[in-house]
Amino acid sequence: MKVFFSVDMEGISGIVSWDQTSSRGYDYARARKLMTEEVNAAVRGAVRAGAKELLVNDSHNAMTNLLIEELQSPARLLTGSPKPGSMMEGLDATFDGVMLLGYHARMNARGVLSHTYSSRTVGCLWLNGQEAGELALNAYVAGHYDVPVLMVSGDNQLVGEAKALIADVTEVTVKETRSRYAAICLGAEDARRVIEEGAYRALIMKQRVRPVKIKRPVQLEVAFLHSGMAEAAEIMPGAIRTGGTSVAFQAPDILAAYKAFRTLVTLAGTVQ
Ligand SMILES: [Zn+2]
Repeated sequence: MKVFFSVDMEGISGIVSWDQTSSRGYDYARARKLMTEEVNAAVRGAVRAGAKELLVNDSHNAMTNLLIEELQSPARLLTGSPKPGSMMEGLDATFDGVMLLGYHARMNARGVLSHTYSSRTVGCLWLNGQEAGELALNAYVAGHYDVPVLMVSGDNQLVGEAKALIADVTEVTVKETRSRYAAICLGAEDARRVIEEGAYRALIMKQRVRPVKIKRPVQLEVAFLHSGMAEAAEIMPGAIRTGGTSVAFQAPDILAAYKAFRTLVTLAGTVQ
């Protein structure tokens, strides 16, 4: 059995500020250790349920956060950036399931450190007219390969997003949001225990969960934080300016939509 893990940082228990998630932040060293240990817990649960091949894709910022010297065997680590598939790089149709760990709510939602891909540029993302965050975007990529998302972990808002999108997904809540920058968190040991149990249960019951698919072609629309960003983004061939801050693009499938979205965000990020 093969399991793919995409690991973000904002949804790890104990993490509530950009100072913890940025490599220049004073508390980053602690945060990356917390992140690594939540991954290790999921790996232990998956191995107990019979997983033999485990690929962990570091999916936060520069994607060099996880500590390989502390990684639970026999998981392998995909580290570094850029990667063509970004948060889902390394996934293909040979995997039995995906686990999204340390994920967070989308921009405009009430979760801890809520944002969609880039907190400095993206005001809102729509896929086929539906507001989407990183959870939906990456779940649809998994669906493209016919692989189900079996488990998600993060705060209670993220878990709510997951429930609405993926029937029978195993949700693990490690913190309850109080504001974008505050949460009631499980102690590190308890968070690891519920994650390990969740990963085990998710794999044991994996037949119940179906891959989530998005209809083709995929209509992508992004509202940026101001008009200058939309002006920088709309130079992408095929992009259409739809409003003061918004740009749209039609992609043949979700993989192309994902790449288009990242291109638009990169362009938008060139202006302040
Ligand atoms: Zn992140």
